[in-house]
Amino acid sequence: MTVTNVVIIGSGPAGLTAALYCARGMLDPIVFTGELRGGQLMNTTDVENFPGYPDGVQGHELINQLEFQAKKFGTKFIDENVINIDETSTPYKVSYSDFGIIKTIETHTVIIATGSSPLWLNAPGEQELKNKGISSCAVCDGAFFKDKTVCVIGGGDSAMEDALFLTKFCTEVHIIVRTSRIRASKIMHQRALENPKIHWKIGYTVDKWNCEDDKLESVSLKSSEDESIFNLKCQGGFIAIGHKPQTDFLKNSSIKLDSDGYIETEQNSTQTSLPGIFACGDVTSSNKRYKQAITASGQGCSAALDCEKYLESIQ
Ligand code: NDP
Repeated sequence: MTVTNVVIIGSGPAGLTAALYCARGMLDPIVFTGELRGGQLMNTTDVENFPGYPDGVQGHELINQLEFQAKKFGTKFIDENVINIDETSTPYKVSYSDFGIIKTIETHTVIIATGSSPLWLNAPGEQELKNKGISSCAVCDGAFFKDKTVCVIGGGDSAMEDALFLTKFCTEVHIIVRTSRIRASKIMHQRALENPKIHWKIGYTVDKWNCEDDKLESVSLKSSEDESIFNLKCQGGFIAIGHKPQTDFLKNSSIKLDSDGYIETEQNSTQTSLPGIFACGDVTSSNKRYKQAITASGQGCSAALDCEKYLESIQ
């Protein structure tokens, strides 16, 4: 079996940027796209904050262009999910299922760029209103709610940050927290408390999202205390209840993860706890705070450069 130089797992901005750099570095990378080719950007409409697109770009279009650019320099794509990395000996063995048949690729290095997925409430009405009023990314979609009333679900730092960001555009921002426990850091909580545009609904959960003319019209909130329903008129709903890193396929591996399941990398590097295995983008502990396509892309570039250096060192 020929040994591949590098297998890249994931086809969001991190994986595709890593692929571009590896391909230009003549490493003949193979990318596993996963089931959701392109990652979270495929679920986003206008992307207005990716440098180089002054008029914005559709999420899927940005992915198509990154993919085209990586292909142009010789990247190969396999439209499957990786199910296991056997790192007990080198070269590493990456397994995937091809229509039910387990296949394996041997590789000197692996770049993991599987991303994370936002957690959703899955309340009635939510699925139908995704991208039509309900979003999990305030930085991506906040500007579409200029002079509108919106709500943010969650009581962690993400919710505080999203709410504060949304006050730049919106007239009113309502933070909905399910218990009296605010998980956010004191400083972020305090900033939100001091902002006159921010209002609070403590001890409420979302009962259902209400739609009018195919757009969000209001949210029905249920009191955790007496189950009474409060109807809040709003045109936007931002869900900020956390993310889940896509690391389930690493359950048999010894790659070090942090307490939330994100991959730990060495300081100022994309090197994981195993030599020749690199990680970049939203699946890493280091990008947890940022979760932006551009920061993921930047880390993808770093991973490719780290990988190239490593391959030189083992030749
Ligand atoms: P957290 O896990 O910290 O907070 C999640 C929030 O969502 C909690 O209030 C939780 O409530 C609530 N929640 C969870 N599930 C539900 C549900 N089904 N219905 C209603 N509410 C729910 O996630 P974050 O994304 O806020 O933060 C993740 C990490 O990233 C943290 O370590 C945070 O500090 C960090 N971060 C740092 C930032 C910064 O420094 N600028 C910015 C953003 C994040 P409950 O408490 O009841 O479980």
